[in-house]
Amino acid sequence: MSAIVHTGSAEDTRVVAARLAALVRAGDLIVLCGDLGAGKTTFTQGFSRALGVTSPVTSPTFTLANRYEGSLIVNHLDVYRLAHIDEVADLGLAELVDDHSVTLIEWGDAIAGVLQGGYLEVRIRLGDGPDDRTLEFRVVGREWRDREAALPGPADDGSADAEGTPC
Ligand code: ADP
Ligand code: MG
Repeated sequence: MSAIVHTGSAEDTRVVAARLAALVRAGDLIVLCGDLGAGKTTFTQGFSRALGVTSPVTSPTFTLANRYEGSLIVNHLDVYRLAHIDEVADLGLAELVDDHSVTLIEWGDAIAGVLQGGYLEVRIRLGDGPDDRTLEFRVVGREWRDREAALPGPADDGSADAEGTPC
């Protein structure tokens, strides 16, 4: 199942992200999909703010990984520009996703097979107007299954959930 929500501004998207942050648990992984400029970093800003992060959340495009302290540690990665699966493996994702932190990863090309365990996929698409976006939430694996009904947005269109490949 997936849930879809529309936003009409960057702040709207941050508010939706904050609603998701209320559901988060240590050890969670969230995969953010969408083209450059879709709003993946904007989403992470709202999410982090809701967890009490006060330092500015900026794009980790060139640093690859940022780490913020809130009520949980927030790891923010951007692998959009990474071309090879080896480079993603080198980030040490398995070590980052631990019992004290939540990890959000901005994802570009499909780099399947790196993620161990389940995750929540948030796919952001551009809409008709310049500030219109749709956010689609999709549970992959078991970790988010019990929170599926509480995800932001109106209930489901009945589509089956898939396993595996993000973005
Ligand atoms: P990404 O990380 O996906 O490349 P960013 O979050 O860095 O994208 O940039 C998104 C841009 O789009 C920002 O300048 C933001 O202000 C703007 N924007 C406009 N409307 C929205 C919206 N509804 N949701 C998210 N961002 C939006
Ligand atoms: Mg970004």
